[in-house]
Amino acid sequence: MPEIQKEDNKNQKPLPSHAKVVVIGGGVVGCSILFHLAKFGWKDVVLLERDELTSGSSWHAAGQIHTISSDPNISRLQGYTIDLYKEIEETSGHSVGLHMTGGFYLASNKTWYDYLKRERSKARYMGLNQEFISPKEVAERHPLIDPSHYLAALWDEQDGDLDPSGATYAFAKSARVHGAQFFTHTPVTATTQRADGSWDVTTPRGSINAEHIVNCGGLWAREVGHMQGINLPVQPMEHHYLLTEKIDGVVNHPSRLPCGIDYEANIYFRQEREGMLLGTYEPKGTPWKVNGTPWDFGHELLQPDLERIADRLELGFERIPALANAGIKDAINGPFTFGPDGNPMIGPVPGMRNYWVAVGVMAGFCQGGGVGLTMAEWMIDGEPSIDVWAMDVARFGEFATPDWGTVKSTENYERRFVMTFPNETLPKGRMQKTTALYDRLVAKGARMGQSFGLEHALWFADGPEDAHEDPTFERNRSHEYVAREVKAVREAVGGIEIANFAKHEFKGKGARDYLNRTLAGFIPKPGRLTLSPMLTPKGKLYGDLTVACLSEDHFMLFGSGAMQEAHRRWFEKDLPEDVQYQNVSDDWHGVALSGPNSRRLLQSITRDDVSAESMAFRDVRECFVGGVPVILNRISFSGELGYEIYCKPQYLLRLATAIEEAGAELGYRWYGARALMSMRLEKSWGVWTLDYRPDFDALQSGMDAFIDWNKDFVGKDATQKLKTAGPDRKLITMVVDVEGIDVSGDEAILSDGQSVGYVSSGGYAHHVKKSMAMGYVNADMASPGQALQVEIMGVMYDAEVLGRPVYDANGAHMRA
Ligand SMILES: Cc1cc2nc3c(=O)[nH]c(=O)nc-3n(C[C@H](O)[C@H](O)[C@H](O)COP(=O)(O)OP(=O)(O)OC[C@H]3O[C@@H](n4cnc5c(N)ncnc54)[C@H](O)[C@@H]3O)c2cc1C
Repeated sequence: MPEIQKEDNKNQKPLPSHAKVVVIGGGVVGCSILFHLAKFGWKDVVLLERDELTSGSSWHAAGQIHTISSDPNISRLQGYTIDLYKEIEETSGHSVGLHMTGGFYLASNKTWYDYLKRERSKARYMGLNQEFISPKEVAERHPLIDPSHYLAALWDEQDGDLDPSGATYAFAKSARVHGAQFFTHTPVTATTQRADGSWDVTTPRGSINAEHIVNCGGLWAREVGHMQGINLPVQPMEHHYLLTEKIDGVVNHPSRLPCGIDYEANIYFRQEREGMLLGTYEPKGTPWKVNGTPWDFGHELLQPDLERIADRLELGFERIPALANAGIKDAINGPFTFGPDGNPMIGPVPGMRNYWVAVGVMAGFCQGGGVGLTMAEWMIDGEPSIDVWAMDVARFGEFATPDWGTVKSTENYERRFVMTFPNETLPKGRMQKTTALYDRLVAKGARMGQSFGLEHALWFADGPEDAHEDPTFERNRSHEYVAREVKAVREAVGGIEIANFAKHEFKGKGARDYLNRTLAGFIPKPGRLTLSPMLTPKGKLYGDLTVACLSEDHFMLFGSGAMQEAHRRWFEKDLPEDVQYQNVSDDWHGVALSGPNSRRLLQSITRDDVSAESMAFRDVRECFVGGVPVILNRISFSGELGYEIYCKPQYLLRLATAIEEAGAELGYRWYGARALMSMRLEKSWGVWTLDYRPDFDALQSGMDAFIDWNKDFVGKDATQKLKTAGPDRKLITMVVDVEGIDVSGDEAILSDGQSVGYVSSGGYAHHVKKSMAMGYVNADMASPGQALQVEIMGVMYDAEVLGRPVYDANGAHMRA
């Protein structure tokens, strides 16, 4: 348990007995959340800090700030964070030591140049001011850099550096100007929930009853979570940077030098006083205090170990030769917290009431402002203003154990400046969750991916030895194998595992009313299925779910596997007493059969009559298939005649064996996620987290076609208003005139050289043999036949908007 570090509380006011929110932790993240809550109108908010403000990782950060992130919305929030520093400096009167020098992202080989071209494309539609400059221009702006190592650099004028302590204090003091309070030397020792959902937050100086608590414990986030039995999969990692002595080239330069990142050398650098700061992410990361951060760790640094970074320093000295001759003034080794995918984990914790986290923020000075903004919007308005899925704590579930968290966070640290290609699956933390079919599918040549911790087949090679591919932006060797799988489904029959779809079960006499209110679409009668959008009160998309009515008071909802915990949190928020709900995703595995021969195959392994007359499109029934009990949905995401067969995990091997045996004569083939993604493109069907997400509403996405306007539902008023105004953007499908490479998401869509939207998903459509993309564009650019361009790695390719799906536009195959 934490104890008061120093007795300097004499000058502090007594703690209030009550607060709307208690924020635990006074690092940059906690202080930013406090500031935003108070600025947006919640004045009764209090921050409690164990020691002094900044006493975790915040005080020893390198203070470099930039906008680039793998997720465009995180980039937007980083841009917001950087813009905010002037405001908090003015409000607080406390300097943040900001230097907006601009910064380089240096490309020393073709691969990194290609990567930066993709970033440039993103920046184009996000309206960020980035431009390519030549190596000569790099040297003009930063004469210490040897330009001969580089092909080009992406220049971003919104990059720079600041004083980390100054920024944290400026947030805290600005919060106080807006009416918030913070207390230092006040460790939280316990958090106890009352029956009314409020929290008693205990400290040695008394306790506060709070409506909400926010865990911003940074290096101690895990320990603060443990007070409530929450295991957060975050891990502090050791990290080095060097500070040099005075360098003449720095002193003599007429202005402050720009900062920069050289990905291949794995270094970042900036000017620090009259010298330079040089940091690196070593190839073998060192997790710090795996079993827990000691409460008495204070304003301390760790013993530097320059051996660990020697090879990186050598590269750094090659590329910035002045560094090689400069004396090292200081070597900093400090811990900071990483999450499994490198992005923050924020928001309300699923399964808890009024318990919020903002943890694993590994770039707090780039992201802290955006995290504070998002958290305040979420707490005050009930939902963030943009889709923050990439930061949502609910993207992890039970599978994200502390051990897994350490392994993945370490992997992420090591890969901080290592490229991840669109076709790449990361090696660490694999086989965390598997189904009974894992070994069998791998033996058949499955190349596996991981989603929500669960292994699933991406594509099938000719046996395990053949199941490999090189990471690339271009089409890769899986292309022909995926084509083979698509052919089997379109012409015969294929099967794909569906354990990774989410399943939500609702029971009780209030279930129908509840679903009618919660979902915007039609709720089916017993034995039928519908597709329904789920909307937020502001009319944003929050789900597209297949609703199965098993009986009048028993429903199963099938949806995005990745969103299962976010949806659980949504459903549990205001569940009436006469509805019983459970996330049963792990209780139902299964196989989806698709293709013209799927009915014959199914009929041969079930006694039920599954003829078209007896089992119509969108029928559901509980029956026996392959000798095991199943839920059988007549529906498919491939656009073919198809059935989803869900069984309990213990029956999966039996079911799969029956399918394989019966399918031998019918051209049966296993297929993977890539084939499915290819086939759904041919039907212009969007995918959750890519094409359907809370950045968009039902009208923009076309999901309004499934709305039941004759009932009241969450988001109806907002959606009606949006309908009256007409959508400003629309989801379109395009055919792209390109060979050898396809979109992989987040490319700019252009008209007459101007960005008019972005690609939300795409790839190669194997049956129709076309490269395709889906994306959102300004509504006046969405008409069928509209000529557009898509930027793929710096090259503009012609594209045309489609008016109807390229495959089976009227759904005859699916309904056969
Ligand atoms: C060497 C190094 C270089 C870095 N360089 C950069 C960079 O260039 N740019 C960048 O953006 N980021 C950088 N970072 C990362 C940055 O420092 C972190 O992202 C940031 O500090 C995270 O802030 P935080 O508020 O989440 O956590 P912390 O700073 O760890 O704050 C958590 C706070 O919670 C308090 N606390 C914990 N438990 C309790 C309790 N029970 N009761 C009360 N209080 C409690 C702690 O005392 C602490 O003050 C760097 C980090 C390091 C170590």
